[in-house]
Amino acid sequence: MSPVALWLDYEHDEHEPVRCLTVILRTAGCQWRKCRMCGYWHESSHDVTQADILSQLRYALTTASPKNEDFILKLYTSGSFLDEREVSGATRRHIAEMLRQRQDVKRLIIETRPEYVTADALADLAGIELEVAMGLETADDFIRLEYINKGFSFEDYKTAAGLITDCGATVRTYLLLKPPFVSERAAIEDVIKSAELVAPYSRTISMNLCNVQRHTELESLWRQGYYRPPWLWSAVEVLKTLKEKRRSMTVISDPVGAGHIRGPHNCGYCDNTLKEAIKRFNITQDTGILKGLNCDCVYRWQSILKYDEYLFGAAIMGVVPI
Ligand SMILES: [Zn+2]
Repeated sequence: MSPVALWLDYEHDEHEPVRCLTVILRTAGCQWRKCRMCGYWHESSHDVTQADILSQLRYALTTASPKNEDFILKLYTSGSFLDEREVSGATRRHIAEMLRQRQDVKRLIIETRPEYVTADALADLAGIELEVAMGLETADDFIRLEYINKGFSFEDYKTAAGLITDCGATVRTYLLLKPPFVSERAAIEDVIKSAELVAPYSRTISMNLCNVQRHTELESLWRQGYYRPPWLWSAVEVLKTLKEKRRSMTVISDPVGAGHIRGPHNCGYCDNTLKEAIKRFNITQDTGILKGLNCDCVYRWQSILKYDEYLFGAAIMGVVPI
């Protein structure tokens, strides 16, 4: 069985770009499966054995790892790496041993829901420079619980973040730009406010730009005209603001699906320019790249922000399309 996907790119790490291998392992998948925007569980399979997971990783490392160069390894499952039902403790320890022997993995990054973060699960990965990513999405419990249906609280995240830090690992926090039922301006404000609240716990903040995945509740809302993915102008605005407030923190955003109708987009003409600027910013952390971008659609975006609450309310009532 092969991984769902694997690719090589760069990550900003300790003031410089470092090679990064991302591997999406196929596992039994996320047990929660209730988030309104998430369709990742379609990539899971109940047939995956623990031996399969190890062979997917061996395949990825053999075929795609950079030669003669230290690199960051992202091992994602579209679920929780620390969930015993996806990746067992024995498999985690096996993976850790494999990586310790290689000595070219500078840092391992995994993703998990906070309820699976325990000292025992983290101990399985001892001896490796580790960053644990959690999809908090927002520090606002109401948005997370009611609009996203995430099923855990900010307190749960903080408890998990404390455990991770106590074990000598670092935290990467995912924030979601524009969850369902949140207007463009409120979405920008929510990420900026959330970032301030998670900054004390996080080494890295990664902003996910909400996109419309197939077979999700968000897709139904979008089809009915109740949702528009975020503007790329909003993403640029948030990245600039966050980085300028917190110079020491790494702030990134992978513009997945940028320029597509289901992904974050502007007018169609400038999307690629903004997408490339965000990608360059991710690696360099230079906010200068995000300044001086221009296109006529910026005025449309600005008026949407200005009349946002009114327009959003009208769209929800079916008076105007969003
Ligand atoms: Zn434009």
